[in-house]
Amino acid sequence: MRLILLGPPGAGKGTQAQRLVSKHGIVQLSTGDMLRAAVKAGSPVGLRAKAIMERGELVPDEVVVAIIADRIGQADAKSGFVLDGFPRTGPQAEALDKLLAERGLQLDAVIELKVDEGILLKRIETRVAETAARGETVRADDKPEVLKGRLDTYRTQTAPLIDYYGKKGTLKSVDGMAPIDEVTAALDRILSPAGAGSPKGGG
Ligand code: AMP
Repeated sequence: MRLILLGPPGAGKGTQAQRLVSKHGIVQLSTGDMLRAAVKAGSPVGLRAKAIMERGELVPDEVVVAIIADRIGQADAKSGFVLDGFPRTGPQAEALDKLLAERGLQLDAVIELKVDEGILLKRIETRVAETAARGETVRADDKPEVLKGRLDTYRTQTAPLIDYYGKKGTLKSVDGMAPIDEVTAALDRILSPAGAGSPKGGG
């Protein structure tokens, strides 16, 4: 199974991706996690990405495309993957199409987690407060000023992908503001063989 989860920061992509990993035996490919690991390791990619990420801007397309091209070729990704945080721009989506076509692979679904931005900001503020209260380090890019910029970036650069995948007919949407278990159940319905493409309703 090969999936993309689309949605702004704080929409719950990471949480749902982890659940999909356990349920379907696929791997989670989060470019954000991979870039944070690169920054921590001080690798050339990390050195290039660090300041950009701290400003809440996007790392250049060719950097993330190279990371994903390498990652989906690895053995553990053969049984499938859920992309979380990639693609984030039109050129990244086109590069992904090309990468998949070259390998004879197809996406099973692109799933948008629909959210209300006002509530989202509150949600991330809560996440930050809880992280700080546990004595853990708060992500530098979760600071309110940076977060607003990340949401703007999502709106201008990533949200157009909803239309891109909508036109291809691979897009499904779920209510990302619903409780976590309900979002998971909605994803299950989309991904279960009987649910794929069938009309809504009937419990
Ligand atoms: P995330 O954890 O997905 O919110 O990503 C954290 C940060 O990593 C983003 O704000 C970007 O700076 C960078 N990043 C992650 N994925 C991408 C991507 N696909 N394209 C460009 N930058 C990315």
